[in-house]
Amino acid sequence: MNTTILGIMKAIKLFMLDLDGTLYRGIIPIEGAVTFVKAIRASQRRVVFFTNNASKTPEAYIEKLSLLGFEPGQDEVMTSGDVTIEYLCSQRKGEKVFCLGTPSLLDSLEKAGVPLATIGEEADIVLSSFDLTLTYEKLVHACDLLRNGAAFLSTHPDINCPTETGFIPDCGAINALLTASTGKTPRSFGKPNAETAAYIAKKSRLSSREIAMVGDRMYTDIALGKRHGLWAILVLSGETREKDLVQTPRNEFPDLIFPSVKEIIPYL
Ligand SMILES: [Mg+2]
Repeated sequence: MNTTILGIMKAIKLFMLDLDGTLYRGIIPIEGAVTFVKAIRASQRRVVFFTNNASKTPEAYIEKLSLLGFEPGQDEVMTSGDVTIEYLCSQRKGEKVFCLGTPSLLDSLEKAGVPLATIGEEADIVLSSFDLTLTYEKLVHACDLLRNGAAFLSTHPDINCPTETGFIPDCGAINALLTASTGKTPRSFGKPNAETAAYIAKKSRLSSREIAMVGDRMYTDIALGKRHGLWAILVLSGETREKDLVQTPRNEFPDLIFPSVKEIIPYL
C-alpha cells in the first residue's frame, strides 16, 4: 500500500463527489462506483454528491442516484444552483433576476424567494445557467439587460455537458455568446469557485483539509480543490486522459490520481 495515499486518506472526513464521468456516464454507473460510496460510508466518512449541472433540481438527482443504487440522503445532494441561490439570498436579497435557466431552476429560485423577471421586464441581475429551454428572445433580453448595466452572474462555467451521444453546449458556451455580444463576463458560482468550497465547508462544518473533491475534470473539479485547499483527487474515468496532464503546472496538479473511483476503495 502506498503510504502517501494512506496519509492523505486519513485526513479526509468528507468526499465531495462529482457525478458525470466520476460516478456514472449518462444512466450507467461506472464500475465499482456504488461499492465505492458504500465503502466511504462504512469507513465512517461522509459523502456529498455535487454537480455543476443546475438544469435539474437536487430532488431530481436524488431520484437518479437512488435508481442507480447510490442511496443518497436528502442533504447529500447539491448543485451549483444551490450555491448561487445561497449567494442571491444572502448578498443580493430582493434584487430582481432574469434567469436563463430551466423551469426547475426557476422553480428553485422562486421557492427561495428570489424575485424573477420575465422577457421584457427590467432586472438587476442576469443569471445564466445550463438552459435547455433557451430561446433567441431570452438571449436578446439578457443582452439588453447586460448592456444596460445589469450584473452578470452564472451558476457554473462548464463549456460542454457530456451525454450518451456526445457533448452538448453547457452554461459556459451560452456565456461565451453573451460575452461576445455585450463584452461582459460573468461571475460563476459552481466548481471551481470559492463560493462552492465555502458552501460545502459551512454545510458540513469541516475545514477544507478534511474534505476531498473527487472528479474527472481538471478545470472544475481539480481546480476547486487546488485553489481552495481541499484535497483534489482526479479519476481518469471521464473527461481527462493521463496525457492531458503533461503540461499541467505543479500548483494545479491533482494530489492523487486513480483510473476510477474503484481503485480508491482499498485505501478507505
Ligand atoms: Mg464530471
